[in-house]
Amino acid sequence: MSGISDPPPVTFLTVNTQQKWLMSVLTCDQPRLMVTESGASYHQDHSDNSGLRSERFVEVLVDIPYGFNTEEKEDQKLLTYRISPDLMVKPGDIVSVPFGTQQLGGIAIQLQKKIPPDLPENRVKAVEDIICNGFFPSTYWQLLQQVSNYYQTPLILVIRTALPPGLLGRSQRRIRLTSEPIPKDAQLFLNPAATALLNLLRASATKDFTWKYLKQNVINAQRGLKDLLQRKWVESYLEPPSPPRPKLKQAVTLVDDIIPLDLTPRQQEVLTLVIKVLKQQGGELWFNDLIKICSTSSSLLKNLAEKGCIIITEREILRQNQGVFQTPDQPKILNQYQTQALQTINDLSGYAQVLLHGVTGSGKTEVYLQAIAPILTQGKSVLVLVPEIGLTPQLTDRFRARFGEQVFVYHSALSDGERYDTWRNMTLGLPQIIIGTRSAIFAPLPKLGLIILDEEHDSSFKQDQPSPCYHARKVAQWRAELENCPLILGSATPSLESWLEIKQKNQQNRFYLSLPERIQARPLPPIKIVDMRQELRQGNRSIFSYDLQTALNQLKETRQQGILFIHRRGHSTFVSCRSCGYVVECPHCDVSLAYHHEHPDAAQLLRCHYCNYSQLYPQHCPDCDSPYFKHFGSGTQRVIEELNRLFPELKSIRFDSDTTSRKNAHRTLLTQFANGEADLLVGTQMLTKGLDLASVSLVGIVSADGLLHLSDYRASERAFQTLVQVAGRAGRGNDPGRVILQTYTPEHPVIQAVQRHDYESFVATELQQRQELNYPPYGRLILLRLSSFNQQDVEETAKKLAELLLENNPDSDFELLGPAPAPILRVANRYRWQILIKTSQGSSIILPKLSEFNSGSVYVSIDIDPLHL
Ligand code: ADP
Ligand code: ZN
Ligand code: ZN
Repeated sequence: MSGISDPPPVTFLTVNTQQKWLMSVLTCDQPRLMVTESGASYHQDHSDNSGLRSERFVEVLVDIPYGFNTEEKEDQKLLTYRISPDLMVKPGDIVSVPFGTQQLGGIAIQLQKKIPPDLPENRVKAVEDIICNGFFPSTYWQLLQQVSNYYQTPLILVIRTALPPGLLGRSQRRIRLTSEPIPKDAQLFLNPAATALLNLLRASATKDFTWKYLKQNVINAQRGLKDLLQRKWVESYLEPPSPPRPKLKQAVTLVDDIIPLDLTPRQQEVLTLVIKVLKQQGGELWFNDLIKICSTSSSLLKNLAEKGCIIITEREILRQNQGVFQTPDQPKILNQYQTQALQTINDLSGYAQVLLHGVTGSGKTEVYLQAIAPILTQGKSVLVLVPEIGLTPQLTDRFRARFGEQVFVYHSALSDGERYDTWRNMTLGLPQIIIGTRSAIFAPLPKLGLIILDEEHDSSFKQDQPSPCYHARKVAQWRAELENCPLILGSATPSLESWLEIKQKNQQNRFYLSLPERIQARPLPPIKIVDMRQELRQGNRSIFSYDLQTALNQLKETRQQGILFIHRRGHSTFVSCRSCGYVVECPHCDVSLAYHHEHPDAAQLLRCHYCNYSQLYPQHCPDCDSPYFKHFGSGTQRVIEELNRLFPELKSIRFDSDTTSRKNAHRTLLTQFANGEADLLVGTQMLTKGLDLASVSLVGIVSADGLLHLSDYRASERAFQTLVQVAGRAGRGNDPGRVILQTYTPEHPVIQAVQRHDYESFVATELQQRQELNYPPYGRLILLRLSSFNQQDVEETAKKLAELLLENNPDSDFELLGPAPAPILRVANRYRWQILIKTSQGSSIILPKLSEFNSGSVYVSIDIDPLHL
């Protein structure tokens, strides 16, 4: 390696204390749901911070561990701490403070000259240390606040989502066995919870668990613990936080080139060489590299340092994941549509929202790349959000080929250290591109010039849990507005939300850009629909239709590759008739009923997730009496087995969550496939996203039905998007592609629209239906999720909560759906119920104070604009 270039000077951004808005939110109880639109109700207080030194106290938002003290209750409190004269605490700093017997992380919110009148001065403790200086861009706090308000989530939870894990060091409460002897027959007199705790602890190698884990696994853990603590058989202790540490590496710096006389001959010899090498390298080199180049030892170099000939220092190095080196590429010559789109984007100044609607293979990514170049030249950074990590290897490679070392990835699959370092590097303010998944929308880039959401329709941009249940698209809109920069939403199948926004409101800073053709005017692949009922009648019991079998047979001859798509099988699925295609629907809700089978002895049921209507699972089709009335789903595993049986000469690669869970597995499998090591890529949803493989000519959709009949009002939209995207993987190279789509309901409007590649008419029909039923994007939904170990408690609480909602809002215009058991009633031993509220845009609803319902065994959370019901 060459010499060390100095790390750029760290410029810390001071945050204006936005006292008014922050306080107004922190002190209110948040019972009223007010959905503020972006930009509304924030009054930035631009008071300067010149009087800093006279302020000796600071209010800190403390990261009180979840479930500590107040059972499962989220407190958001500002606590006052003293600032010792040697610490320069500023608002926005992450600090470490004493809290009870623990050290906790917190964020300095505002400085104070005095302490609150009701607080005795001798009780005020001092801030221990500054963990991280205030790095937040000035609009950053406003963004987090906006997320907290809109999604009805305590600010501290939003902050936890935004910061890399472990930054706010949190102590953990742990329980361990003491050395006290425990009688053999203890379970005879202990309560069941105490016995369960004891068994867990005894079975563990370290005799030690976090309290959180024990609570999750033992019913009435609190009661059991009390008993065991009294008997002194266990003890409770706090494990101190361990924030990610910067990684340090030793560097050697040249002092001067005089060789002192008191050195041994060997030392003189080495020093002569060291001086020569260091001079060549600009005066500095990593310690380990110098040892190698000069063939010497670390002890000898340390001797030289003691004699003052060289200086050895520790330098912080950043662990960043930049991916594999790519051969540089050049901007492509754009076609007419791309040129038009780029022109519009380049002409934007300040906030604007662009919908880039381009069919699959129309060259959206090339437009992004060319739109980014001038932003970097202006010294600004760019944020690119992508749905899932499976997508990123190919995409990041393309970005790396164009922009080299200015590209960084940021997502939860990175190690904590990598995440911390990438994140810290952002705060330095150098122009860069961050490619990440939804939480990267909180990347603290100080000079943001552009935000891009690729595949903006994808539902993985929405967080279902834990709180805040934010949608990265919504947050991106706020952020672009606050940073005054453009936002590009790209998709072949835009979400109805984005479509309606662009088409409905004819606002100044909204733009619709279309790429209606594939690159080089390649045709979209023709889609052949195969009626699987017909196949059954013709005696074909295989999961592959005759058409698909023929196509698979041809793959080897034509030396082309194929993709087989299987819809991921959920925990509960719809039920349909294989003879006539009949699907059982809820008589009240217009959604298909889901198959429920809790355990082997339970009755098999069909149930509506919206209203809780249920009926027994019929053994024969209610419509045609056929016995082929089955709940659906065929996993990748089964398809591969069938392939091996029928087409032993075809090699396939399985590409689903089971085979891609290891780090870099996506890249490895895709590289193998791209190198022609297999004929087929067989997988789930992951295949739909952004794969650009020129040699794929065949796409087989093994069954579209699992997608069509999900018990969700968004089922059609999602099915259409997924099918169009999968189909879009075919024929992206010189060979024309084709798609074979197998279904039991060929007449379904979604299937028909997919076959015609007809986005607009599909959307028109779908929007009309949404409007009639007041579903989003017209109406709004709020989902309250309740869970408990105790089935009865959760059901009762849900009913009580629903009653209160009705009582509190006698005049509001809203519909209450439920309470009903969640689609998957029991997860990790917790029973789950839900209440769905449907209102019009802009109307407000008074919610009961959720934290009151959180006491006891039931936990309530709120999901604003839920995508999965
Ligand atoms: P999309 O994201 O719209 O599906 P891509 O950006 O992946 O499309 O483009 C499809 C393929 O076409 C890619 O291999 C890309 O390199 C290539 N491509 C894009 N724009 C051009 C262009 N103007 N000239 C030649 N090839 C292009
Ligand atoms: Zn129903
Ligand atoms: Zn039937």
